[in-house]
Amino acid sequence: MAVKPKKHLGQHFLKEASVAKKIADTLSLKGYDKVLEIGPGMGVLTAYLLEKPVTTYAIEIDSESIDYLQEHFLELSNRIIKADVLKYDFSNTFGKDPFAIIGNFPYNISTQIVFKMLENRHQIPEFSGMFQKEVAQRICINEGTKSYGILSVLVQAFYNAEYLFTVPPTVFNPPPKVDSGVLRLTRKNDFSLPCSEKLFFKVVKSAFQQRRKTLRNSLKTFNLSDNLNANTIFGKRPEQLSVAAFIELASAIENDQKKV
Ligand code: SAH
Repeated sequence: MAVKPKKHLGQHFLKEASVAKKIADTLSLKGYDKVLEIGPGMGVLTAYLLEKPVTTYAIEIDSESIDYLQEHFLELSNRIIKADVLKYDFSNTFGKDPFAIIGNFPYNISTQIVFKMLENRHQIPEFSGMFQKEVAQRICINEGTKSYGILSVLVQAFYNAEYLFTVPPTVFNPPPKVDSGVLRLTRKNDFSLPCSEKLFFKVVKSAFQQRRKTLRNSLKTFNLSDNLNANTIFGKRPEQLSVAAFIELASAIENDQKKV
């Protein structure tokens, strides 16, 4: 029996197999041989993942969907994880091995999934899948735009982000209220942050929390020296700074704090 969609779990099942195939095909299959699908539901996307030359795992919170998967995807049955992805410790399944993440993600927790990926980025060389269009665009967009924000800067510091294609509500059951967008994130393997990660996150978050203010105002809590504060960059607003400029800024703040 098909699973009846549950709203509180963000269940919008794909009706069109061709879209699921297109999403599965976003995987480059480079740098990993394991893939974790978040929120397989009734397995529309899973079926295409199982055709790929990788080992597919699936994490799902809904018991009814799990029963359905167990029944219809025998070859997957011992690689189905019943858990809340936000609470799950990936090392239980993958140890230290690299794995890719894919999914038609539950939109109600899409931002948290992205933050969880960032936390575990050392073993996640690739991440692709579907979000609300607006969220997918926000992750991939460059500076100088209205939707450029915390997600764009933090993700793009560590990943190359590509917005791939838009998907209309009509291919889902039930149809969501908004368009969806598929993206692919590819980790920058030769990159490491030149300053403390904690400070970098704090600078980016503080800057965008008051996005209409200049950085001089929004970064006051960092007690910057007059010397650094005089730099023209502090007269700018956060959406004017590229990802590279944010990294430079956080490094400058870190050096400034060492001097005090
Ligand atoms: N991939 C399927 C279902 C997408 S809907 C398809 O394309 O048809 C989103 C799925 O995420 C649902 O199956 C839902 O039960 C699951 N889900 C929601 N919250 C979750 C969580 N916290 N952890 C794991 N899975 C979750």
